[in-house]
Amino acid sequence: MTTLGGTNLPRVGGYNQAVVLDAIRTRGAVSRVELAALTGLTNQTVSNVVRKLLDAGLVTETGYAPSSGGKRRTLLSPRPDGAYAIGVHLDPDSAVIVLVDLAGEVIVSRRLRLTAPDDPADVVDRVARAARRLLGRSAVDATRLLGLGIAAPGPIDGSSGCVVSPPNLPGWGRVPLVEMFTSATGLPVALDNDATAAAIGERWIGGESRAGSFLFIYLGTGIGAGIVLDNTVLHGGTGNAGEFGHMPVEPGDRVCACGATDCLGPYCSPAAIIDDLLRLHGRAAADRIGLTGTPESPHDDWKALRRAARTGDPDAVDVVRRAARRMAQATRGAVSLLDVSRVVLGGEALRGIEPILLEEIDQAVNRTSVARSIRRVTIERSVIGDTVGAIGAASLVLHGNYAPGWRLLTDTAS
Ligand SMILES: [Zn+2]
Repeated sequence: MTTLGGTNLPRVGGYNQAVVLDAIRTRGAVSRVELAALTGLTNQTVSNVVRKLLDAGLVTETGYAPSSGGKRRTLLSPRPDGAYAIGVHLDPDSAVIVLVDLAGEVIVSRRLRLTAPDDPADVVDRVARAARRLLGRSAVDATRLLGLGIAAPGPIDGSSGCVVSPPNLPGWGRVPLVEMFTSATGLPVALDNDATAAAIGERWIGGESRAGSFLFIYLGTGIGAGIVLDNTVLHGGTGNAGEFGHMPVEPGDRVCACGATDCLGPYCSPAAIIDDLLRLHGRAAADRIGLTGTPESPHDDWKALRRAARTGDPDAVDVVRRAARRMAQATRGAVSLLDVSRVVLGGEALRGIEPILLEEIDQAVNRTSVARSIRRVTIERSVIGDTVGAIGAASLVLHGNYAPGWRLLTDTAS
């Protein structure tokens, strides 16, 4: 099989280079003197590192800072065309594929319907072929392509690059996705669960507005969370930190895949909220909203329910609010544990219902005395939007190569 072509671009080795590049990416036009202050490195070290970044084509000199007497300071900016990555977001019945530059700009993208989603070999083959076509269509220099990142529903085994019987990919057992994509594309491959990948994408694209620490809550087919603390993504011992769906909340009559009846996940997935509407408000409400209630049309039903909630249909708002309250309960626990003052909501399934979620979560986390005396929490939407999973997947590669404090999963998988 022809491959996508490897890269001759040397990895920017060393922690200092990663720190300096991350600072330039986050701040934009910045001088060497400011970089030294920002990173705590000496002027001499910054100069050496910047020289290497300029030689590698990853940053560029973009004019001068206003003079405050003495020598004018040259400003450095990231070079978007310095490096590229492909991101793949795997969902139960489709894959979103993006080609992203170093600035996080999407060059080309497509959504691929999966005709045999329960057959991992078929999925990998189709996605690899589609990625190759996308790259061919773009004018991108393939030697600047660093690799391919995959965001997949968890759980994953980070040390072996496998997904392990993900509940949201029916029919998949233990699948060595990193190995399969490596041999199908010839590229370095990184894998993470979709919520963690989305959080990394948010940090990567969000620049200064996402610097520091935040909890990212991701709603797709299921719910998950990504945790960024001091600009570093928390992976946990097995690579499964942020399994938000198993946070205990007020118990009900739904049983989680793990066996518990008080896990958040089974109460706030799109399928669960649709089910709530049918059970609590009956056929008449479903007909008014335009739900079929059949398993074949979850996407259309979810779209109709979101639209109804957005326009104020009381029954649609009621079921979304019930789910939002449980999400808010779990979020309050997570925020207390992690001591973060920012929560970001993202994922394509959220569109239209964010106002209800933002309101419920804000009330839950900010009504306590802790919020009043120590930490007020800001609740915000993702800066990326619908493609946060796929861009996050690409960020696994870019961030893995160029961000400090980050363990690229392929390092242990290869
Ligand atoms: Zn559970």
